[in-house]
Amino acid sequence: MISYDSTFSLIDTHCHLLHIINKSTISAFSPQELQEIKKILHQAALKNITHVIEVGTTAIDSILCVELAKIFKNVFPVVGIHPHEANIHYQKTAIAGNISVIKNLLEVHTEKIVGIGECGLDKHYPDHNLEAQQALFEAQIELALTYNKALVVHTRDAEQETYAILERYKTDLKRVVIHCYSNSLDFAQAVTSWGWYLGIGGTVTYPKNTQLREIVKKVGLSSIVLETDAPFLPPQIIRGKTNAPEHIQTIAHYLADLLEKNIEEVARITTCNSERLFEYHSSGAQCS
Ligand SMILES: [Zn+2]
Repeated sequence: MISYDSTFSLIDTHCHLLHIINKSTISAFSPQELQEIKKILHQAALKNITHVIEVGTTAIDSILCVELAKIFKNVFPVVGIHPHEANIHYQKTAIAGNISVIKNLLEVHTEKIVGIGECGLDKHYPDHNLEAQQALFEAQIELALTYNKALVVHTRDAEQETYAILERYKTDLKRVVIHCYSNSLDFAQAVTSWGWYLGIGGTVTYPKNTQLREIVKKVGLSSIVLETDAPFLPPQIIRGKTNAPEHIQTIAHYLADLLEKNIEEVARITTCNSERLFEYHSSGAQCS
């Protein structure tokens, strides 16, 4: 990472660098791929994004996330299986196979890995398999508890089912983020009352997303971490283009305006939240 002089530090708590460079098979990173990632991180650093959480979505992805984090010291891996993997073609044996890959990664790289995910429930597509998703989700919650890692939750069009599972774990699970928050105010108030965080990204800037802006105002910065979900969900000003970690600063400025705070305060609070959530300590921000 380049060193630079700055008054604040921001963190992208949810991104997919591997998807940005289109890497989905297990092989060593080529010099070209490494160059591409280096450039993305450099652009981010110029905009004060000092750390990036790289989130896995499949077993292969998760293995590569860990490899990437070995190469780039300011990239922290989260390993897990996305609910999209559990569609109607998904076999019971695949759940066990996938979970054993994640477990093995946790055994071998326990210090480096900062979380489990993204995992959860997603009923958006007609070929989803809710029963398999539930089993996969609970198995990953158990891993987060066993290995004391943060849990990164993906939930889409499945608020009730997600709540039913999470509610059972509300006292055991201490460090949780509901990524790309798109649920109701009630759900937000419940999970934040349990001390969990909402991941807020580009979607908060979309003109139609009044509900999310109201939720952000109600829960306040103390329950928020910033994320891009790059290459997906670019903020409004670059809508239609590929998202990247550097756009965390766009989201931070947007929240500063929305909440009538300055950017330094948004950065300090959300960065400290991210450190509490993922338990790494390197931003230099003063967190109490
Ligand atoms: Zn994601």
